[in-house]
Amino acid sequence: MDSAEKKVLDVLNILVSIGTSVIVLISLLAIITVMDPVLLVFSVMPVLFSLPLSMIRNNFNYKMENDLVLDNRKVNYVKKIYYEKNYAKDLRMTKIGNVLSDRFRQSVENLSNLQRKYGKKKWFLGFWETFNQLIIVIYVSYVYLIYNILVVRKFSIGDFSAMFSAVRNVDMNLRRLMQLIPQIQNNGLYIDNFLMLMNYENKVTDGPVEIKIDALKEYSLELKNVSFRYSPNGEEVLRNVDMRIKAGEKIALVGHNGAGKTTLVKLLLRFYDPDSGELYFNGKNIKDYNLESYRNLFGTVFQDFQIYSFSAMENILMDRSCDEYRKDVKEILELIKVSVDPDNALSKEFDKEGIVLSGGQSQKIAIARALIQDSPVLILDEPSSSLDPISEYEMNQYLFELAKDKTVIFISHRLSTTVMADRIYLLENGEIIEVGSHSELLNRYGKYADMFHKQAEKYIDNRNAKDD
Ligand code: ADP
Repeated sequence: MDSAEKKVLDVLNILVSIGTSVIVLISLLAIITVMDPVLLVFSVMPVLFSLPLSMIRNNFNYKMENDLVLDNRKVNYVKKIYYEKNYAKDLRMTKIGNVLSDRFRQSVENLSNLQRKYGKKKWFLGFWETFNQLIIVIYVSYVYLIYNILVVRKFSIGDFSAMFSAVRNVDMNLRRLMQLIPQIQNNGLYIDNFLMLMNYENKVTDGPVEIKIDALKEYSLELKNVSFRYSPNGEEVLRNVDMRIKAGEKIALVGHNGAGKTTLVKLLLRFYDPDSGELYFNGKNIKDYNLESYRNLFGTVFQDFQIYSFSAMENILMDRSCDEYRKDVKEILELIKVSVDPDNALSKEFDKEGIVLSGGQSQKIAIARALIQDSPVLILDEPSSSLDPISEYEMNQYLFELAKDKTVIFISHRLSTTVMADRIYLLENGEIIEVGSHSELLNRYGKYADMFHKQAEKYIDNRNAKDD
């Protein structure tokens, strides 16, 4: 893939070179044919011998480059870890550097073994080409020309140098031509990879129906008997999930790690389609909607959100800065209590004055992003995991205040936040095992109640310990 772009330009250059060589060749061949057609044999034959070799060499180079890719990537991965800031703490405080240097050494060793393995074949191919050129073109044509000067007396010394140089030039140009043509085929191998990617058909297809968000009042989201696995032979990550969410409801998804909560959200956002069952928006299959307009329904905050090395404003709008929204951005920055100017860069990558935010502040920026959009549904995956308890409390207050008319679907491990939900879905191994409001689920004395009491005990124990 890395090479594809360059290879397209290479093909254009090759076409120009082929044109030049063909013109030179036609002129030289005409001269040789007039002087002595026998000489044509000496210039053309060796090239015919080396043509198949040239094709073998090109395929061989392609195979070699592919074999080197994985270890080259590993070497680059280790290099990247040594210069990226995110890894600096681990490198200082742990022995991960040992693992990295082992991997680096192993990959460099593999690379040099591969070079050695391919080196022999490369040498043989090079030797055969030189042999052809030296023996047939130079020595045999030398002998033939000298014989014609000294014995047959057909040529003069002057003819010798002109004809010898013509034979060598024909050979060189033909050889070049023969190398260039297989190179087009060879470049095609790289371009094939590129085209395969470009022609990759997205499995998530677009439908024709547009959603007019401004006109939305009542709506519903529904999952009917949805099952999903990431790979055909992998385990089922969601199993027969049924869910119905109405406009304005606050829905909590809870469950242990790996239960399938994030996957469910990914299906809602149509990052994937389910293997069986369907999802509906307003009673219509979500596949019928235009993908962009469907996704515009959702403002999202994921656990692995990214902060970009651009201004706070661009990071919140997730679009170009624009004065029209400056006031809104300022307001939201005040609300989340992150004291940066909308124009402050949020990293020092391109700006020495840039501001480096803490984990909790970064998470607040991610939440601001979702809040500033006009999307009717908010999806929050562990929105307060990096916040201290007071910030979390405040965040929940204004989140629910600002989102009071919106539908909110949030994943949370802290069951203190789920108290505010209209409905809680407890997932286990990809299945919904309990549904209800906080008080309904507590009264059921099931797994949710158990989880809640365990978390509550932790706080109470801590408090008792303090009191003691
Ligand atoms: P949760 O959000 O409840 O912690 P997830 O939905 O992230 O759980 O993951 C559910 C299961 O799906 C886990 O077993 C996880 O390993 C698997 N999984 C998640 N993402 C992928 C992926 N992209 N490819 C393959 N398996 C995945």
